Amino acid sequence: MAGQIPRAFIQELITRTDIVDIIDARVPLKKASNQNYTACCPFHQEKTPSFTVSVRKQFYHCFGCGESGDVLKFLMNFDRLEFVDAVEYLAAQQGLHVPYETRPGSHHKPKENHRNLYDYLQAAALFYQNKLSQSAEAMRYLDTRGLDKTIQARYGVGYAPANGQALTQYAHVDTSNFPHFHAAGLIGQTQSARYYDVFRDRIMFPIRDRQGRVVGFGGRIFQNMTDKDGQPLAKYYNTGQTPVFNKSAELYGLYEALQAQRELPYALLVEGYMDVLALAQYGFSMAMASMGTAATKQHLERLYRHTHKIIFCFDGDAAGQRAAVKALATALPLLHDGRQLQLIFLPDNHDPDSFIRAYGVDAFQQQLTQAQNFDDFFWQMMRKDAELSHAGGRAAFYQKAMDYLNQLPQGKLSEIMHQELTRLTRIEAKPAPTPPSKRIVGEHAPLNLQEKALALLIQQPSLAHTTTLAANDTSPSPWRQALDALIALTQEEAIETTAALLYHLQNHPQEARYAELACYPLLTPEQGMAEEFHDCLQKLQQQEKRDMIDSLMNKIRAGTASLDERQQLQTLLTNPN
Ligand SMILES: [Zn+2]
Repeated sequence: MAGQIPRAFIQELITRTDIVDIIDARVPLKKASNQNYTACCPFHQEKTPSFTVSVRKQFYHCFGCGESGDVLKFLMNFDRLEFVDAVEYLAAQQGLHVPYETRPGSHHKPKENHRNLYDYLQAAALFYQNKLSQSAEAMRYLDTRGLDKTIQARYGVGYAPANGQALTQYAHVDTSNFPHFHAAGLIGQTQSARYYDVFRDRIMFPIRDRQGRVVGFGGRIFQNMTDKDGQPLAKYYNTGQTPVFNKSAELYGLYEALQAQRELPYALLVEGYMDVLALAQYGFSMAMASMGTAATKQHLERLYRHTHKIIFCFDGDAAGQRAAVKALATALPLLHDGRQLQLIFLPDNHDPDSFIRAYGVDAFQQQLTQAQNFDDFFWQMMRKDAELSHAGGRAAFYQKAMDYLNQLPQGKLSEIMHQELTRLTRIEAKPAPTPPSKRIVGEHAPLNLQEKALALLIQQPSLAHTTTLAANDTSPSPWRQALDALIALTQEEAIETTAALLYHLQNHPQEARYAELACYPLLTPEQGMAEEFHDCLQKLQQQEKRDMIDSLMNKIRAGTASLDERQQLQTLLTNPN
């Protein structure tokens, strides 16, 4: 049987992990305010988002169904992981080894490797960049493709040497590195336990996440290469799924685009790494690419958090048309009012890289300006082969169109599209009604003073570090005991976030109530919380004092007060605070 995982380790894991990243990779989140993200709840059916994730609290909560918890609970509920597996998963992502206590009470210190996967990926990126400057062929290739050095540096382009052992040898300095490079998808292992480089003789494009951390690589061959059986190798090879790389959520070039421009007027979705680089070189820094897959819902949701307009750029051939239909189907459910979707089809089988080099910046700008709106493209696509001149044809057309239009979220856009369908088919088309949500959002019983103090402390545990509460050892009231216990716990365990505090309160008799208070919508802005907490404590202490005086007076009247109690009363009555 595996031993216990120390609580301190779990707390550290919760603290190190950003819950927003973990949830966002599964349920695309939308920024609601500085500290909060929202989405439609993954745990119940809804059309308007009542699921919120708090950056500060590192905690999620649904105002619709009441689900809430920390990152571990989310993984357990969403990925259906066992607790230990969820811990293992997060630890792998942070490059940490889960320490298991073999005997309860044993205090051997586990040897932890605090370099995480991101460090290994970053080291590899620098390694490849360095190798590029040593490879005449690779540099010549980038040169013939017209890529200047500034762009290569901005995107961190590198080169993986051909011998298949370069990174492996580099890693060999310390063999404990191997499992990490392996987990990062960069070093493989043969059946005879020999290590080898996964990327060989390829131009390397590091893929960065939104924080600029390298999470994976795309590698492109640039000379005709064959495998050992003489078969040509795939032109592109990308890092597979790893604990830090989810290819259906990451976009190549998004980080660099946001570096160039904080607010994106639009996002341009292209196919390949070279397209992104070429466009950036010519001043179109908003280009990005999904890697080896068509754009997913997650990609698009992520982009709509940074811009209101997405422009897809396709080749003008039949494959481009098919890709466009697919992209449209993916995007429809995301087209809330205010979001735009446009498409460009480049002429003469050009991709953006070849087009901009052949025709120049102005010609490409013109393509952007003349981009087709999604509804134009949609009706054009629908009308192809449609027979609107007879009832049967119109009915078929109606059904086909409705299958798409029903995907649209409620709003003006949906209404307009349905009206157009009515006009074309003379059949009345209406958006499907939305089912009413189960519970009214924002229904909360007001808090009394004690509950408010507890809520403030739970939502901002750092308040415990500067608390002004004077000790009361004589007759602590229940609220006082609760507050004292929480403050002590927070101080002892050096707890910083709500998620970490609630983790320590598991199986506490008040666990459910505390979780509720963690989600209670306090209207106090973050910077006012300390003052408000202080204020609450003061009022509570005054109330405590009044209660104590009342009870002592009653004892004196009843003639049961001890000498100590008489003195206590006197002190209370003469002391103004
Ligand atoms: Zn819910």
